[in-house]
Amino acid sequence: MASVPAEKLSETEITEEEREQTDGFNLLIDALKLNDVETIYGVPGIPITDFGRMAQAQGIRVVAFRHEQNAGNAAAIAGYLTKKPGICLTVSAPGFLNGLTALANATTNCFPMILISGSSEREIVDLQQGDYEEMDQLAIAKPLCKAAFRILNAEDIGIGIARAIRAAVSGRPGGVYLDLPAKLFGQVMDAEAGKNSIFKITDPAPAQIPAPEAVERALETLKGAKRPLVILGKGAAYAQADEEIRAFLEKSGIPFLPMSMAKGILPDTHPQCSGAARSLVLKESDVVMLIGARLNWLLSQGKGKPWGGRKNFIQVDIEPGEMDSNVEITAPLVGDIGSCIKKLLENMGEDWAAPPTDWTDAVKSKKETNIGKMAPRLANDNFPMDFHGALGVIRTVIKERPDAILVNEGANTLDLARGIIDMYQPRKRLDVGTWGVMGIGMGFSIAAAIETRKPVLAIEGDSAFGFSGMEIETICRYDLPVCVVIFNNSGIYRGTDTNEQSADPAWTRFVSNSRYDKMIEAFGGTGFHATTPAELKKAINSAMDSGKPTLVNAAIDPAAGSESGRIGNLNPQSKLRKK
Ligand code: ADP
Ligand code: MG
Repeated sequence: MASVPAEKLSETEITEEEREQTDGFNLLIDALKLNDVETIYGVPGIPITDFGRMAQAQGIRVVAFRHEQNAGNAAAIAGYLTKKPGICLTVSAPGFLNGLTALANATTNCFPMILISGSSEREIVDLQQGDYEEMDQLAIAKPLCKAAFRILNAEDIGIGIARAIRAAVSGRPGGVYLDLPAKLFGQVMDAEAGKNSIFKITDPAPAQIPAPEAVERALETLKGAKRPLVILGKGAAYAQADEEIRAFLEKSGIPFLPMSMAKGILPDTHPQCSGAARSLVLKESDVVMLIGARLNWLLSQGKGKPWGGRKNFIQVDIEPGEMDSNVEITAPLVGDIGSCIKKLLENMGEDWAAPPTDWTDAVKSKKETNIGKMAPRLANDNFPMDFHGALGVIRTVIKERPDAILVNEGANTLDLARGIIDMYQPRKRLDVGTWGVMGIGMGFSIAAAIETRKPVLAIEGDSAFGFSGMEIETICRYDLPVCVVIFNNSGIYRGTDTNEQSADPAWTRFVSNSRYDKMIEAFGGTGFHATTPAELKKAINSAMDSGKPTLVNAAIDPAAGSESGRIGNLNPQSKLRKK
């Protein structure tokens, strides 16, 4: 070949075998890497096992779970924490369906994630001829996520990945489904053409600058307020505009109320935080500014008794269609939260007047009363241990370890922990979100540890833990600094229900006095058993000091806890049932 002049090496003279080839596997991996995908969460199987192997060989971290729903939850929270889509990889039909719950939940919560599932061959699926794990996955995913795509040809991989990433992170973030039929992985094409077909996406989540009139209107509305309130939602935490939000709130002097996952954007101990005066501020405020929070069931749809009466709403949100979804929004401010808050700050002027002191004083005094009432309950040393005694301990643990990530799910364990445990830093509280879904615990914990490299403390109801408990093996396998604390009251809501009809236990009961701490020992982790607040404190501190996989079984009084936690009012029979 050396003697052939360069100009003779035209395309026709190079045989197919001499040309360098690439395939679907490599193009997918290259496209993901080019777009900064560092980690894939998934479960191996047909047809994606080799894809996972090859991704791992090429430097992507591939974290294997025991169930796709947990891998999906991990991907979803990775997206929330990083503003990049979390990737979940599953097999076809059943694996895809298992991941779909997490994808729908991510979409509901506005977390960017991409569920990538292998699928059967189109020709067979479309004629319903009974392929291995046959299912029209794209059609099923479509109504449950923000966008759904299928890539049929290797040369479309670059565009397919770009469409998926953009759909997940731009505008209101959400879940995206990407369907990859088995045949795609092995498809070959010219390496040079393949290389040219993939690219790094330019500005996948463009800033959305609010209109100047909308900024003005919002500020005018706020200025006219006598009893203003700001509600921070998890959209505000997601936006990572922490400094701007703090500057805006401190300059305005307005009391703020953080929604559950917005706790810590400003510390819960901040003088303007009115979490401990929630009922008062919702009821008595006259102008409410929502920042990345929706007026859904968690805020009583913005109307009715908790809200006192009509008030003016300002809403800062990236999704224009969110405005007026439940009540009239008199000052909609559409844009990304970082840009919106920056504009508000710029236009507030030097002489912004603080809210009237009769309002801020009323909030402050209510707050102090409520905090004072709670204090002795949190310091209780009851045996058997109750929720308050146990949570009082955990509250101190987080105060002393403010950079730890708190994952929280359950009924009473969730509702009480949310109110009791103060958060000090943004995006440190990860919980059941908009749906109040159970089962996020271990997936969220694993991804939080991997994405942030911070210690994780998961506070789990015994029932909630059961949904993803097998993943403690995953936690041990990857040697993650996760401490799982199980609030073990031997049942759902309580462990004291009885069944009068048969020998079967009441259907809200679990095995009494279970020792969940023994489970983690099976996988080489360390278990602790705590029956008093003092023991609990010691156990959690040594668990967290170890930086190793640990599980604390916290024995809680089976009689403690109320039906459905704080949302018993949503039970259809709640008004009829006798106590
Ligand atoms: P919470 O449950 O904490 O009240 P929600 O999930 O109800 O929070 O609301 C989050 C809101 O934040 C959604 O309406 C979503 O459109 C919005 N959002 C998410 N990310 C951004 C962003 N970067 N800029 C503006 N709004 C955002
Ligand atoms: Mg329980």
